[in-house]
Amino acid sequence: MGPGPGPTAAQGDGLVTVTRGTTNTNDRGSAADRRRRKAWLLAEHGDGVTCPCWYCLEPVTIATIQVDRIIPGALGGTYARANVRPSCGPCNRRAGHALQAAIRARVPRRTLVSLCRLGLL
Ligand SMILES: [Zn+2]
Repeated sequence: MGPGPGPTAAQGDGLVTVTRGTTNTNDRGSAADRRRRKAWLLAEHGDGVTCPCWYCLEPVTIATIQVDRIIPGALGGTYARANVRPSCGPCNRRAGHALQAAIRARVPRRTLVSLCRLGLL
């Protein structure tokens, strides 16, 4: 009789790991996350110091770049690298306005208010 592969790992309590993200209030991440994302955009779309705005091609820097989500947050888009592109401030705001007009037509007002509170619009 030897020690077989017993069920030693099956313990019900003790370790609690919370990995489910049930809130998007911290969607954009920390300041360091956002700076890293901008630096990545500058490197991916430019020379690491400047890169052209996706819309008007005006060069942006780490100080002026805005992170534009291709699929907007209101429609479920995240800040994953496949979903972001560089934008200058004016173009980013313009894109936001066009988006809001489009969204208003199809999203209940209460949802829009919630999105605004979360800073997603
Ligand atoms: Zn622009």
